Amino acid sequence: MIIANWKMNGSKDLIKDWITSVSENIKIQDEKECVFCPPVGYLNLSIELIKEKELGIKLGSQLIESNLSQPLTGGVSPEMLVDLGCEYAIIGHSEQRTYYNENDSQLINKIEAAIEENIKPIYCIGENSEQKKNGTKQEVLMKQLDLIKSNYLSHLVVAYEPIWAIGTGENAEVSHINETHAFIKEYIKTISNTANEIPVVYGGSVNLNNYKEIYSSELVNGLLIGGASLEPINFSIIYNQS
Ligand code: PEP
Repeated sequence: MIIANWKMNGSKDLIKDWITSVSENIKIQDEKECVFCPPVGYLNLSIELIKEKELGIKLGSQLIESNLSQPLTGGVSPEMLVDLGCEYAIIGHSEQRTYYNENDSQLINKIEAAIEENIKPIYCIGENSEQKKNGTKQEVLMKQLDLIKSNYLSHLVVAYEPIWAIGTGENAEVSHINETHAFIKEYIKTISNTANEIPVVYGGSVNLNNYKEIYSSELVNGLLIGGASLEPINFSIIYNQS
């Protein structure tokens, strides 16, 4: 599974150019999902173009609201995302934990609200550089994974994104990724016995130079790509050759 997270980038023209170029360069395989997560304002345009080109790329949202019982200016509900053709939503991204002050109970509610509408959460977890240094990575990951109820585990994708690697150009070493993915997979098994089927993808400065080595690990079930996903030919190469 290869996921493009555009963050707060793009314009109508850039979306059109990207989808046109990707449709000419990518070879979508049934067994390897490709998920495009543009800014929410471009979801509609994106799905129209994806359908027009019969591209076979799935759509994911960077935003999802769980507070559904009251008027909420700016909210984007799971039902709206389904209406727009979304099948995935990124939840718990470190940038949103930081800048939107997302707390654990909001994250639990978002995961729940997404799954109730058949939207698959791409649940992001990962340690910051301080936690990496002081050796508390495993405790941090366990706490983040403990938010997931066992009956929800089979419905989501876990994205391991060490915060120190996001957007820094400093990807994690393959040995670090392997050790951490092995830990995540083992820990998930203690929450649910369906754990073997749960994809654990890696994100953090993946690019054309490092994707092959990272994806060649059998513990890595996919890649979540931010900055490097903006360039359509590179993104298509990463998808085709991973
Ligand atoms: C991300 O957006 O989650 C991400 C991993 O970004 P980048 O690939 O730019 O580090």
